[in-house]
Amino acid sequence: MKFLLYLVLYLLSLDLSAHSGRLDKMDTSKHHHEPKRKAPLKALIVDGQNNHAVWPKATLMMKQYLEETGLFQVAIYRTRFTWGAEREKEYLPLAGVGATTDLENPQHDPDFAPMFKNYDVVISNFGWKAADWPEDTQKAFEEYMSSGGGFVSFHAANNSFPDWLEYNKMIGLGGWGDRTEKDGPYVYYTNEGELVRDPSPGKGGAHGPSHIFPITIREKDHPITRGMPKVWLTTKDECYSQLRGPAENMTVLATGKDVSGKAPTDRHEPMLMVLDYGKGRVFHTTLGHDDFSIESVGFITSFLRGAEWAATGKVTQPIPDDFPTAENSTSRDFKWKIDGQ
Ligand SMILES: [Zn+2]
Repeated sequence: MKFLLYLVLYLLSLDLSAHSGRLDKMDTSKHHHEPKRKAPLKALIVDGQNNHAVWPKATLMMKQYLEETGLFQVAIYRTRFTWGAEREKEYLPLAGVGATTDLENPQHDPDFAPMFKNYDVVISNFGWKAADWPEDTQKAFEEYMSSGGGFVSFHAANNSFPDWLEYNKMIGLGGWGDRTEKDGPYVYYTNEGELVRDPSPGKGGAHGPSHIFPITIREKDHPITRGMPKVWLTTKDECYSQLRGPAENMTVLATGKDVSGKAPTDRHEPMLMVLDYGKGRVFHTTLGHDDFSIESVGFITSFLRGAEWAATGKVTQPIPDDFPTAENSTSRDFKWKIDGQ
């Protein structure tokens, strides 16, 4: 009896697939140039140790934003020992990476070894004081990048790994971690619009209080920034300043001006950057301090376009209707839509 039921179901499924096959054919004959639906881009978010308490939530926000575009399929790879996960611990199991242990200090994970080569783009949500990756993993990442990989450095990821030279070449500019003139110049725009590389001595990394500040586009014809208004507002976020690093093969796409009244500098500081590393592409965003910063439409749009560009060298996503202007800061409330696992 059961066998008969299965047989009927099987025959029905054959019939259905035959129908859909015919429909496909008819469709193709009507639209000769309909492009084949492409497989999604594969993105990997790496995280686990960050001085920003938002990090477990930030990873899930970025994953959901990426997947909602329909362009990306996102995996997460996390260090076995985490740091700073307490505030957003309810988001930890949603990553689907198995059990991890939160410690009082960042601790080296000798088994941290993502298969970078399986991904079109790697996004770092590590932060200040993150423990060094194993040497083999560092080498694998350098090879992945120099042979044509994609990388996105998100907010405090530019605080990580001050002693890893190749990583600092990838991000171009970094802050804190005892970075000084030994690590490279300051890079900024003056109020008159001049791009400056400044080798003068001093610490790397500072910021005033979180606040809404203006972003100025410096490269309007780059795929990531094309179509954005010349000036647009963040939501409440940190305006990183006085970053320094090798800054080779780097283009500053957009700068930020701290208007909090407590600005560390009177300069326009790099906020969105792109870099070449061998055949690899890097998108570096300094934005994204906390959840309300990541909900910014300016952040979301530049992040998604930056990730697509890092993965493919192109951007297909339009500027959304709710993109901020020079007068209006815009944001979208984040709600996790995928059921827990
Ligand atoms: Zn921050």
